[in-house]
Amino acid sequence: MPIATPKQYAAMLDAAQKGNYAYAAINITSISGINGALQAFADLKSDGIIQVSSGAGEFASGQKIKDSVLGSIVLAEACHTLAAKYNVLIALHTDHCQPGIKDSYLKNWLKSEATRLKVEMPADGSVPEAVLEAHPWLRDKKDPKAVDKSLKGGKVDSWLKPLIKETARRRAAGQANLFQSHMLDASNLPLALNMGMSQEILKECTPNEIILEVEAGVVGGKEEGMDNTDVDHSKLYTTPEDMVAVYEALNGLGRYMFAATFGNVHGHYKPGAVKLRPDILKKGQDAVVKKFGEKAAFDLVFHGGSGTPAHEIHETLGYGVIKMNIDTDTQYAFTRPIADHMFRNYEKVMKVDGEIGEKDAYDPRAYLKLAENGVAKRMGEAITDLKSDGKTIFGQA
Ligand SMILES: [Zn+2]
Repeated sequence: MPIATPKQYAAMLDAAQKGNYAYAAINITSISGINGALQAFADLKSDGIIQVSSGAGEFASGQKIKDSVLGSIVLAEACHTLAAKYNVLIALHTDHCQPGIKDSYLKNWLKSEATRLKVEMPADGSVPEAVLEAHPWLRDKKDPKAVDKSLKGGKVDSWLKPLIKETARRRAAGQANLFQSHMLDASNLPLALNMGMSQEILKECTPNEIILEVEAGVVGGKEEGMDNTDVDHSKLYTTPEDMVAVYEALNGLGRYMFAATFGNVHGHYKPGAVKLRPDILKKGQDAVVKKFGEKAAFDLVFHGGSGTPAHEIHETLGYGVIKMNIDTDTQYAFTRPIADHMFRNYEKVMKVDGEIGEKDAYDPRAYLKLAENGVAKRMGEAITDLKSDGKTIFGQA
């Protein structure tokens, strides 16, 4: 079966919501990662999600090219071709896309703020002091005259929009969507701007039958390009008021998923360091349902799934989580068997003391197969924890 059609993907999410289970969404960076993930989904008869970050796209395009759009297309096309051989449904997704002042949405907003405050926007791209004064969240904590590091760039115009355009181009040519969903993570902006931007992107997604994932609140920890290790802890928990505001902003514009935060962090931490509060999700869902009815309940996304004990995962399933991201644990599961292979076969993978090593041991396939199996095993655990095993809707939707 090729990658899920928009209709099939919607049916997958509906089935998970109704059946209180969720899909594992694995970040991949190579064909080996894709094959490991597909192996697990197929073995467990589970549908699932394969996702690409901008860094993975850049990596996949080659170190001399460094084109995150090109590499994301390459990885997605590999998924389309390889997934066609399996009897489960796979959806393709792009992970965190953080906006910055190079993106047109924020550029235009800054201009309008400068006009309102009667100051000129400097040609060098810097932000006038009066604007920083009016919006302290723009300021860098260490260098108060400058814009915060996390806002300096922007991946919306350079990565996300070109990928949506690529799907639009394919649809016009009678081909399938490239990605079934994208994430816009504008949680580095105040909620009103975050939602303004989310509305803009959702309006681009909907005519192309693409689902948008949005985020409010902050996922702690560290992931490529984001460092939230020093964020105020209260921000790690999305409030019921914010959840209602997200619904009010996006309802009616198209289908979306919502990464509300409940103390989750990226990366893997020693037991006790992370205080997950799944009840936050329940409180938010209750607030939205109370105001707008049962149909308003969110499709929630759980970020930072690595290292989470099964009982905490299970609790979130009852509160509307239908997608859980897993990256750190599968990175480790990929690397661990390779390390094992290298240490065990030290004298075969290295040419020591004038010896010639052993071709069978240093052939990359020897250890990449082990890495794929490592990924498949860890993914199998995630799939079981998320209760999507045996629930593929392949052939039904
Ligand atoms: Zn995340």
